[in-house]
Amino acid sequence: MIRTRFAPSPTGPLHIGTIRTALFPFLFSQKNKGDFILRIEDTDKERSKKEWEEELLKGLDWLGIKWNEGPFRQSERNELYKKQLEKLIEDGHAYYCFCSKEEVEAQKEHLMALGEAPVYRGKCRDLPKETVNKYLKEGKPSVIRFRTPVNQVVSFDDIIRSKIDNNTDTMGDFVIAKDFDNFLFNFTCAVDDMLMEISHVIRGEDHIPNTPKQILIINALGGKEPKYAHLPLILGTDKKKMSKRTGKTSLNEYIAEGYLPEAVLNFIAFLGWNPGTPKEIYTMEELINDFSLEKIQKSAAIFNIDKLDWINGLYIRKMPLMELTEKCLPYLPQKPIEELSKIVALYHERLKKLSEITELTDYFFKDKLEYDKELLRWKDMSDEELKSSLEKTYDAIDNNEDIMELANKEDNRGNILWPLRVALTGKKNSAGPLDIINVLGKEKTLKRIKEAIELIK
Ligand code: GLU
Repeated sequence: MIRTRFAPSPTGPLHIGTIRTALFPFLFSQKNKGDFILRIEDTDKERSKKEWEEELLKGLDWLGIKWNEGPFRQSERNELYKKQLEKLIEDGHAYYCFCSKEEVEAQKEHLMALGEAPVYRGKCRDLPKETVNKYLKEGKPSVIRFRTPVNQVVSFDDIIRSKIDNNTDTMGDFVIAKDFDNFLFNFTCAVDDMLMEISHVIRGEDHIPNTPKQILIINALGGKEPKYAHLPLILGTDKKKMSKRTGKTSLNEYIAEGYLPEAVLNFIAFLGWNPGTPKEIYTMEELINDFSLEKIQKSAAIFNIDKLDWINGLYIRKMPLMELTEKCLPYLPQKPIEELSKIVALYHERLKKLSEITELTDYFFKDKLEYDKELLRWKDMSDEELKSSLEKTYDAIDNNEDIMELANKEDNRGNILWPLRVALTGKKNSAGPLDIINVLGKEKTLKRIKEAIELIK
């Protein structure tokens, strides 16, 4: 039975890259008719917040990533962790450490001076039971450490990265709990993966150094070790870690800009995964069908926003006009939807994200346009030519004549069409003038041409 999980820490906005750590285990479990478990890792009491958890759940819902079990919260599982911790201590796999911070630091510095890994090397490892009890009774501050075996190799066969070996001497006796109410990440994560019978741990490669520690804990508890698949890093196009400075990182920002969930999913799926065929557009169902861990690459994935825009534009083009208009409503002034849909139609083909509709179409909703009169000029027209062009156009429209016929009489149609289009929009780029006239109506069109003529005088 395949059982995977997504185990986010609710310590900040849902990062766009984090979605992949939800999507891949989700796809893998659904492809194999297994279960996908949502586990909220909120043991860090200071940094974990309910609002981040809510944002997380909303984000998954928006994307259509559904879990079969959960959400479980680690903050609600203390009793389970307590039991496992007691067991580790009883079996001698964990022990109380009473060393002060200063003592631990001094030991580490000493090891570094010897050129060795700065790990805790167990001054308290073999304290007699009576001493431990005495210290505990006195209330001497303590932590609980894992008794890491000395000079052993812990290996695991990572599905993506192949065999990874670790010598236990690089880990030392790491802390697994501050006390019986405060457990640390490697411990709770390992215990939960064991108790939840996770078959495949699929997560970011930043967790590779944690894996041998978690394996040691699971082994000490007599649990079954899951298989591991560590996903490659996601870098920006500058090959550096994605950061706030170089772009949007939180899913909410993408939602606000008007990216569609189907497009985001499709885009994220290709961050480090490739089906090995030219097919690039995938529905969730198709992703589930075609997904495989073996097709995940080792090298870093590049987050290319242009590709996301391209995919998003494609999904927008496939969408029926009325549906698109509805989705554009938050970005447009309040008007009857039929009226808006005519405006949206002009940009259906070129829209990349919904939020762009505001700026692209603002000229429809303004009483008077503000623009530089130089924009009206086509090539090297003189003021007189420009004025005459607009006057001819005005008359033609006023008399319900065909504008294209008028334009075709010129050596260059731009002489008529360019000044007209700028008069109607105040923009360098826009939809074509005839489409715009259709939507604006004769009266507004004539008013705008008149205003343009007045600018030239
Ligand atoms: N809670 C960890 C994190 O957000 C993930 C743990 C895991 O996937 O094993 O980085």
